[in-house]
Amino acid sequence: MSDDREYQKFLEQCQREWEARCSRCGACCGVVEGDPCEHLRRFKKGGYYCSIYTERFGLHKTVGGRPFRCVPIRDILHKSWPGDQDCAYKKDLSK
Ligand code: SF4
Ligand code: SF4
Repeated sequence: MSDDREYQKFLEQCQREWEARCSRCGACCGVVEGDPCEHLRRFKKGGYYCSIYTERFGLHKTVGGRPFRCVPIRDILHKSWPGDQDCAYKKDLSK
């Protein structure tokens, strides 16, 4: 395997591990506030997912019509939002 290919696989593995940390609580998508993003969906067994995940960044609106900008979670980890005490990424940071 070439160095480039090996490095690419390493990056993909890092990405998978980062994504897997999310507990799918939906808090960063507004579920605790009661007016979530219109693209947020609930799994039948509990937990949430984004119906446009690969295209999620940018301007969207809540179910109630409030506009907001979806950004990478790493960009808001220093901020607070309702329910953020359950965010797996924030918990990792506080270890
Ligand atoms: S677009 Fe962003 S805020 Fe909306 S459900 Fe997807 S990840 Fe959450
Ligand atoms: S608040 Fe954190 S753990 Fe919950 S869905 Fe958002 S990124 Fe995932």
